[in-house]
Amino acid sequence: MTAEQVRQYLEYYKDLGITHLNLSSMPVFTAGAPAPVPSPAPVPSSVPIPAAAPAPKAISTPKAPTMEIVLPTLAPVGDTLAKIREDIGDCKRCGLCKTRKSIVYGSGDERARLVFVGEGPGADEDEQGFPFVGRAGQLLTQMIDGTAAKDSLPLRREDCYICNVVKCRPPENRTPLPDEMEICGQFLFRQLMAIQPKAICALGATAAKALLNSKEGVTKMRGNWQRWHGIPLMVTYHPSYLLRAYNVEAKKEAWTDLRKLFHFVLDDTKVDPE
Ligand code: SF4
Repeated sequence: MTAEQVRQYLEYYKDLGITHLNLSSMPVFTAGAPAPVPSPAPVPSSVPIPAAAPAPKAISTPKAPTMEIVLPTLAPVGDTLAKIREDIGDCKRCGLCKTRKSIVYGSGDERARLVFVGEGPGADEDEQGFPFVGRAGQLLTQMIDGTAAKDSLPLRREDCYICNVVKCRPPENRTPLPDEMEICGQFLFRQLMAIQPKAICALGATAAKALLNSKEGVTKMRGNWQRWHGIPLMVTYHPSYLLRAYNVEAKKEAWTDLRKLFHFVLDDTKVDPE
């Protein structure tokens, strides 16, 4: 992260009225590089946010021709889902605010062991204000409840937390743009840091890219454990992809991924999936 990015984040949080940041969530890495895995159980500490430093003079550095997504890496001390929602307010921080009806924040258990992250709200979600309530959402519910029931595992959709990379519906359901994902990603980062789940499931390529900054496709990444800031993460297909009739094989693979995920999440003897 560059000094200018740090300055921008500090100013952003100061604008939100946040006065202290959690240093244990502030890894040191260069922009564009994948987030490192932190050493286990860091001792949390915090620092006050200093008065905003004057912006350095503009330097005409040519922008790298890259579409990499780098989520911010600062979380306020004592963050909660309610506080994050309050900070989002009637958000107009990116262009998606112009066409949305609702801000679709997320739903589920604040202390969930498992968080599902999708791409962004669709028409039904925009209408109702909740994530995954349309056809893809119904399939996700079936996938969670059905897979767990088949293996006699005590897990239902309401035990999980479900949210998206962007909180407002992209027009015509297009893929969110990199800058929209970066801006709204601040809230996703804070949601995940506040919940601290045992595992995360990235649904589809956009969520995988936002969280892992990987160029790999879902087909290559799925089924294998990845890490997001030390938290085990599984990538699998987005339910809307599985709704297409010809994706029978992908459906079987998604069910396999969920079984692996659920068995790890519910096994209290396992702190690491590998
Ligand atoms: S998508 Fe996120 S950042 Fe953009 S307007 Fe909606 S809540 Fe704000």
